[in-house]
Amino acid sequence: MRRKWRYVLPLLLVMTGCVSGADTQPETIDIGQIQFDTSEKDAGLETMLSNISYDEKDGVVYLIPASTSWIYYWDKESGVSGKLCGRPECEHEGVGCNAHTNGMNAGLQVYGEHVYFMIDNGVLMRMKLDGTEREIVRPVKKLIGTNGYWIIHRDKVYTTVMEQQVEEGERYNELYIYQYDLEGNEEGKLLLQERYEKLPTLTWRYKGDYAYFMVQSGGVGERSRQLYIYDIENDSLHKLIDVQKDKWLVMEYRVHEKEILLLEKSQATLRLIRYDLQSGEETEEFTYPNAYRYSAYLSADEEKIILYDFLWDPEARWAYLLNREGEVEGEWTLPPGDPMWIYDSTEEGFILYDSDRWEDDSDTIGYRLWQFPYDGGEAEIVLSLEVNFRS
Ligand SMILES: [Zn+2]
Repeated sequence: MRRKWRYVLPLLLVMTGCVSGADTQPETIDIGQIQFDTSEKDAGLETMLSNISYDEKDGVVYLIPASTSWIYYWDKESGVSGKLCGRPECEHEGVGCNAHTNGMNAGLQVYGEHVYFMIDNGVLMRMKLDGTEREIVRPVKKLIGTNGYWIIHRDKVYTTVMEQQVEEGERYNELYIYQYDLEGNEEGKLLLQERYEKLPTLTWRYKGDYAYFMVQSGGVGERSRQLYIYDIENDSLHKLIDVQKDKWLVMEYRVHEKEILLLEKSQATLRLIRYDLQSGEETEEFTYPNAYRYSAYLSADEEKIILYDFLWDPEARWAYLLNREGEVEGEWTLPPGDPMWIYDSTEEGFILYDSDRWEDDSDTIGYRLWQFPYDGGEAEIVLSLEVNFRS
């Protein structure tokens, strides 16, 4: 049975419709052989949902508030928070402070006993969890372009960037994915280079010795979707899904050994489907018809879904709690404010953040973390910071 799939799968991929770019690897992967190694922790969901702005270890949250250059910590137990700097007599006011990242969108990840972060778009740094011993880890190829991103998983650093280029008057986006050894200074390995007409989005998931990344490109009516798997042990890349999904956009997905769970949205409809990696069959778990202007995310245990509006509304902000059957179990109404964004799904609930709009005469913005409990109880602000974004 297992052997048979080797030959059936490529056919399925062809039948479901190849949309863009050349296949990077002619041979396919034996799905039946995939087994997740759970001996080590995988790169966390909070790291990926927050776009590496938020991470947690031993009850302490480490975060870079949106649009700022500062690494903060927040001890959930004691409620104490501040800039993550262990330098004696530091005023924590600018370059020289350990908590300062030298620029916007530095990203942050807790890995082992260190907080890692990127400065100057290409130098990976780290310091101890108490904000001491700040040091350079290694350089990576510059993340200059669009949606530059990096993440560490099992002693490897993965980076991605999209570069806008013009060739013979045509504008296109070139997507690059690299892998580096965390310890060492040798050149990175190019895992994928692909060309897209429309700026693609890319989302990662990691399980054991496998890295998954989904690329979506194009708009309504011309939307393409590819899911790749990178077999870390065997250093091989394969395309698992390559389809045209004109209507459905993937909001969120989770990988399992034999199937992928996908939370998809068309204009107003949200649905949860399971995609069988061996047969290519889709099974719809539910559809929910009232999701216009809402974003949606799955909890870490895949049992709860939060829907929250992402458009600015002068009246209020709304969020809904759905169960795995697509039934509404809770509803939250929040005072008006800027749209919220997802950071994490903890044991208690979803963590989202919002921040004030910038005002010309102010150097600070208010930045808040909200918790939306899975039992539908009141949404509450769990952390509130005043952040100086000019320094
Ligand atoms: Zn400092």
